[in-house]
Amino acid sequence: MPQYYVENSNPAIIEPEEWDRVQIELARRRDIGKATFCNSPFSTKIFCGDCDSRYTPIDWHFTDKCRRLVWQCINKFHNEVKCTTTHFTEKQIKEKFLELFAIYFADRKATIDTLRYVQKTLTDTDFIDDDIEACDRGNGYPHRNDTADGDAERLRLREQR
Ligand SMILES: [Zn+2]
Repeated sequence: MPQYYVENSNPAIIEPEEWDRVQIELARRRDIGKATFCNSPFSTKIFCGDCDSRYTPIDWHFTDKCRRLVWQCINKFHNEVKCTTTHFTEKQIKEKFLELFAIYFADRKATIDTLRYVQKTLTDTDFIDDDIEACDRGNGYPHRNDTADGDAERLRLREQR
Protein backbone atom coordinates (compact mmCIF):
# COMPACT_ATOMS: atom_id res chain seq x y z
CA MET A 1 0.00 0.00 0.00
CA PRO A 2 1.51 3.35 -0.93
CA GLN A 3 2.14 5.75 1.91
CA TYR A 4 2.18 9.51 1.73
CA TYR A 5 3.62 12.12 3.99
CA VAL A 6 1.25 15.09 4.19
CA GLU A 7 2.84 18.17 5.60
CA ASN A 8 1.03 20.08 8.37
CA SER A 9 -2.09 17.85 8.22
CA ASN A 10 -2.09 16.82 11.90
CA PRO A 11 -0.10 17.68 14.96
CA ALA A 12 3.31 16.23 14.27
CA ILE A 13 4.33 13.13 16.17
CA ILE A 14 7.87 13.89 15.16
CA GLU A 15 9.28 17.04 13.67
CA PRO A 16 9.73 17.10 9.87
CA GLU A 17 13.48 17.53 10.33
CA GLU A 18 13.59 14.42 12.47
CA TRP A 19 11.50 12.57 9.84
CA ASP A 20 14.04 13.57 7.20
CA ARG A 21 16.94 12.41 9.36
CA VAL A 22 15.19 9.07 9.98
CA GLN A 23 14.65 8.60 6.24
CA ILE A 24 18.32 9.32 5.58
CA GLU A 25 19.33 6.88 8.31
CA LEU A 26 17.00 4.17 6.98
CA ALA A 27 18.44 4.64 3.49
CA ARG A 28 21.95 4.49 4.91
CA ARG A 29 21.18 1.26 6.80
CA ARG A 30 19.58 -0.28 3.71
CA ASP A 31 22.70 0.54 1.81
CA ILE A 32 25.11 -1.05 4.29
CA GLY A 33 25.85 -4.68 3.63
CA LYS A 34 24.79 -4.81 0.03
CA ALA A 35 26.59 -3.94 -3.14
CA THR A 36 26.38 -0.32 -4.11
CA PHE A 37 26.44 1.11 -7.59
CA CYS A 38 30.15 0.44 -7.45
CA ASN A 39 31.18 -3.16 -7.89
CA SER A 40 34.46 -2.59 -6.10
CA PRO A 41 35.61 -5.36 -3.75
CA PHE A 42 36.08 -2.59 -1.18
CA SER A 43 32.40 -1.61 -1.15
CA THR A 44 30.88 -1.84 2.36
CA LYS A 45 34.24 -2.97 3.78
CA ILE A 46 35.92 0.31 4.66
CA PHE A 47 34.72 2.15 7.74
CA CYS A 48 35.62 5.53 9.18
CA GLY A 49 37.90 5.45 12.20
CA ASP A 50 36.24 8.56 13.64
CA CYS A 51 32.50 7.93 13.28
CA ASP A 52 32.32 4.21 12.28
CA SER A 53 30.33 5.02 9.16
CA ARG A 54 30.98 3.41 5.83
CA TYR A 55 33.37 4.82 3.27
CA THR A 56 31.79 5.13 -0.13
CA PRO A 57 33.23 5.74 -3.58
CA ILE A 58 32.58 9.13 -5.10
CA ASP A 59 33.22 9.99 -8.71
CA TRP A 60 34.98 13.35 -8.53
CA HIS A 61 34.95 15.67 -11.53
CA PHE A 62 33.12 13.10 -13.62
CA THR A 63 32.61 15.58 -16.45
CA ASP A 64 36.20 16.67 -16.97
CA LYS A 65 39.68 15.29 -17.49
CA CYS A 66 40.49 15.46 -13.74
CA ARG A 67 37.93 12.71 -13.13
CA ARG A 68 38.91 10.25 -10.43
CA LEU A 69 37.32 7.87 -7.97
CA VAL A 70 37.83 8.75 -4.32
CA TRP A 71 36.57 7.09 -1.18
CA GLN A 72 35.20 9.18 1.67
CA CYS A 73 33.19 8.83 4.84
CA ILE A 74 29.47 8.83 4.08
CA ASN A 75 29.00 11.35 6.92
CA LYS A 76 31.21 13.88 5.22
CA PHE A 77 28.17 15.62 3.76
CA HIS A 78 25.03 13.96 5.13
CA ASN A 79 25.00 14.85 8.83
CA GLU A 80 24.62 18.12 10.64
CA VAL A 81 28.05 17.57 12.11
CA LYS A 82 30.22 16.73 9.14
CA CYS A 83 32.85 14.07 9.56
CA THR A 84 36.26 15.54 8.87
CA THR A 85 38.22 12.43 8.01
CA THR A 86 40.20 12.57 4.83
CA HIS A 87 39.31 10.91 1.54
CA PHE A 88 41.45 8.31 -0.24
CA THR A 89 41.95 7.71 -3.90
CA GLU A 90 41.22 4.30 -5.34
CA LYS A 91 44.96 3.90 -5.90
CA GLN A 92 45.73 4.61 -2.20
CA ILE A 93 43.09 2.08 -1.12
CA LYS A 94 44.59 -0.60 -3.36
CA GLU A 95 48.14 0.11 -2.17
CA LYS A 96 47.10 -0.04 1.49
CA PHE A 97 45.19 -3.27 0.87
CA LEU A 98 48.26 -4.88 -0.69
CA GLU A 99 50.43 -3.72 2.25
CA LEU A 100 48.05 -5.27 4.76
CA PHE A 101 47.58 -8.39 2.65
CA ALA A 102 51.37 -8.90 2.59
CA ILE A 103 51.58 -8.47 6.38
CA TYR A 104 48.67 -10.84 6.91
CA PHE A 105 50.19 -13.53 4.70
CA ALA A 106 53.78 -13.05 5.85
CA ASP A 107 53.41 -16.15 7.99
CA ARG A 108 51.63 -18.30 5.45
CA LYS A 109 51.34 -21.41 7.64
CA ALA A 110 49.87 -19.49 10.59
CA THR A 111 47.41 -17.76 8.29
CA ILE A 112 46.27 -21.01 6.71
CA ASP A 113 45.96 -22.64 10.16
CA THR A 114 43.85 -19.70 11.36
CA LEU A 115 41.61 -19.84 8.29
CA ARG A 116 41.16 -23.61 8.70
CA TYR A 117 40.25 -23.09 12.36
CA VAL A 118 37.69 -20.44 11.39
CA GLN A 119 36.29 -22.70 8.67
CA LYS A 120 35.95 -25.61 11.09
CA THR A 121 34.38 -23.41 13.74
CA LEU A 122 31.85 -21.97 11.32
CA THR A 123 30.94 -25.29 9.69
CA ASP A 124 31.22 -27.70 12.60
CA THR A 125 27.89 -29.40 13.32
CA ASP A 126 29.18 -32.04 15.74
CA PHE A 127 27.46 -30.33 18.66
CA ILE A 128 24.14 -30.71 16.85
CA ASP A 129 24.78 -34.43 16.35
CA ASP A 130 25.58 -34.67 20.08
CA ASP A 131 22.29 -32.92 20.90
CA ILE A 132 20.38 -35.30 18.61
CA GLU A 133 22.01 -38.32 20.25
CA ALA A 134 21.24 -36.93 23.69
CA CYS A 135 17.68 -36.33 22.58
CA ASP A 136 17.42 -39.92 21.25
CA ARG A 137 18.79 -41.31 24.54
CA GLY A 138 16.75 -38.95 26.64
CA ASN A 139 19.94 -37.58 28.18
CA GLY A 140 19.67 -33.92 28.79
CA TYR A 141 16.18 -33.79 27.33
CA PRO A 142 14.11 -35.93 29.73
CA HIS A 143 11.04 -33.79 29.17
CA ARG A 144 11.32 -34.26 25.40
CA ASN A 145 12.07 -37.98 25.19
CA ASP A 146 9.58 -40.06 23.17
CA THR A 147 7.11 -37.27 22.92
CA ALA A 148 5.89 -35.04 20.18
CA ASP A 149 8.17 -32.35 21.64
CA GLY A 150 11.13 -34.73 21.36
CA ASP A 151 10.31 -35.47 17.72
CA ALA A 152 9.97 -31.79 16.95
CA GLU A 153 13.29 -31.10 18.69
CA ARG A 154 15.05 -33.85 16.69
CA LEU A 155 13.62 -32.45 13.48
CA ARG A 156 14.68 -28.91 14.42
CA LEU A 157 18.22 -30.09 15.24
CA ARG A 158 18.53 -32.09 12.01
CA GLU A 159 17.45 -29.04 10.00
CA GLN A 160 20.18 -26.96 11.73
CA ARG A 161 22.83 -29.41 10.61
ZN1 LIG B 1 33.41 9.54 9.48
